[in-house]
Formats: sequence, structure tokens, C-alpha cells
Amino acid sequence: MTAGTAAAGLDIPAAECGVGGSLDPVDDLVSRQRVALAAYCPSLTKRIPSLEESITDAYRRRRQAVGPFIAAVRTRGDIQPADRSELGLRSALRPVLETTVRESIRAAVDDEASTLAARVEARVAYDGDVSVTVDPDGFARQYARRGLSSLLDRAVTAAHRTLHATVVGTGRPRERFSTLATAQSRILATATLLLAARCGSQALAAECDLVTAKQWRTADEAVCPVHGTVSRKRPVQRCFGEPAVGGTAYVVGERTPLACSCIQRVVLGPVARTDPRALATSDGVTVKQGGDPVKPLSDREWEVYRAHARPDETFVDLLRRFERTRSVRGGARELGVAKKTLYRWFDAYLVDFDRYSGR
Ligand SMILES: [Zn+2]
Repeated sequence: MTAGTAAAGLDIPAAECGVGGSLDPVDDLVSRQRVALAAYCPSLTKRIPSLEESITDAYRRRRQAVGPFIAAVRTRGDIQPADRSELGLRSALRPVLETTVRESIRAAVDDEASTLAARVEARVAYDGDVSVTVDPDGFARQYARRGLSSLLDRAVTAAHRTLHATVVGTGRPRERFSTLATAQSRILATATLLLAARCGSQALAAECDLVTAKQWRTADEAVCPVHGTVSRKRPVQRCFGEPAVGGTAYVVGERTPLACSCIQRVVLGPVARTDPRALATSDGVTVKQGGDPVKPLSDREWEVYRAHARPDETFVDLLRRFERTRSVRGGARELGVAKKTLYRWFDAYLVDFDRYSGR
């Protein structure tokens, strides 16, 4: 841990408290987080400057509360639960971060979905435009809320500690608060956008059935100050065992939201390479050929295709193979469908099929 030295038993890096007045560890952490964000969720990086500004503004608005907060701490000797609301930092920061996360999850889903679609297009054996669209509502929001509340806890704790340190030691409270605000606005901005990026990735994994796993990894140029170099996969609905520190995390960085520069990615599973209609059956996936959307296989067709197609066979190829090599009765039995259904499929898909030919 370089910038990740835990302060007083919590996983809040000392750098986040602005201790010592040096911003170098903050620079280091923020630059790693920016590299990760730019590599995996490029459309979010342009939100950094205005978010930093809004966070700085939230701190500035609470500067007048520093005096009364210090007076209360002096009277009571330590920070009491009642003091937590006196600084009012949480309620100043919350709306800023909430709005950002809500808007950014959608952008994050779109970014990663287009990367996924490009990888699918590269794998299929025909010309087609593949797009992946999922609705990030619900599930991702739940994890974003949890992550956000954890970011706010850390920001507020860091502020309280910084101010408490001026009561029991030296330093001017307002100056220390300003130094803290400068550091925090930079760290909170990138950490919030990374949180949205991770939740977006989780939403895509949960909603698109081309995704078979999720991956915890570090950007090549940005080894995480907390976790080092990481590359591990987990099933979409399972927790990660968080590397290097204890506990588990459902979404990457859950236990160390401010100090972690790791990212979460989706893992593409098997793709129906040859049949666009089979690919279009996947949730969230649209395939267009010649500008027109391809009609997906029906549920029953997809079931039969998945169970019986040979590698790289289309649904039509499968039907043709059965039509040529088996009686309709035998084929229907083997595929587990009614004879009537198989006749219907032959009529619909095999242009030269003649049901009265005697087979
Ligand atoms: Zn990390």
C-alpha cells in the first residue's frame, strides 16, 4: 500500500485526510483512478472537472460550520454522535454524488455494451450489426446506493478526524478543512465515477445473457494501491473474495471505495457464431442485417437449437440435416417436439420441403 495506508483501523488512506499538507499521494491515487476510468469507461472522464467543481462547492458551503463544530468538540472533549450532523457535510455532498451516479451508470452501461457488441461482431461468421442494450435500473441502483453511502461515510469521517486533530494538536481548523476539501474533491470525483462504472458493468452482466462471468482487474498502467495487480473471474451473481484485504465484495472495490483503482469487466461467453437469429435470441441483443432487425428464434426453436445443433450449424442447417437423414416421426422424437411442430418448421424454413413426398 503506498497511498492506501489505513488510518486508525479504517481503510481510509492517510492521503485522503490531507494529513501533512502534501497532495502527492492524492495525485498518485487520482492519476491511477483516471487511467482506469479512461481505459474502461472513457465517456465518464469528461465528467471529472465539473464534478470536482460541484464537490468543492459543497465543501465551501460547509466551511462556515467549521467554527461551531470545533466549539462543540472542545466542549464535549471528543466527537460525539450529535456532532456528525453539525458539520452538515453529508447532506451537502449527497445530492451531488447521487445525481452523478444515476447519470453515469447509464453512460457506463452504454460504454461497456458497445465494447461487448464489437467483440461479438468480431466473432460471428456473417455480416451484421450487433448492438447490446440493457436497462440499468433497479439492481445496479441498489449497489450504487450502498457504494455511495460508503463513500459519504469515509468523506465525513475524514473531515471529522481532520478537524478533531486540530483540537487535540495544532493547525488552523479552517485551513485544514480547505486542504482536505481540495484533496477530497479530486478523490471523491474519480472514486464516484469509478463506482458508477463498476455498477454499470455489473448491470450489464446481470441483464445480458451473453455475459457468463464478471472480472476484477487492474488497468495495465494503473496498479491498484490497495490490491496490487489483480485478475480474477467470478460468476455474475456471486461475490468476489476481495484480494489483499479481508471480506467479500459483490462489486469491485466495495470495501475500499476511495482508495481502489481496480475496475470490473464483463466476460463474454459462447456466441452463436453462424446463426444471427440464434444470437438475436439473447437478452439485450439486437442483430441487424441490411439495416433490418433479424427476427430472433422462438423460445422453443432456441431450446432445440441449443440442445441439438452441431458447432457452427444454423437452425436451418439443423432442420435440413434432420429432414434428409430421418423420418419426420423419428426426427420429432429425437428433437423432443411434436410431429406437427417439426412439419411447421420444415414448411417455414426449408424452401424445397414437400411434406407429401412420402417421407
Ligand atoms: Zn483495487
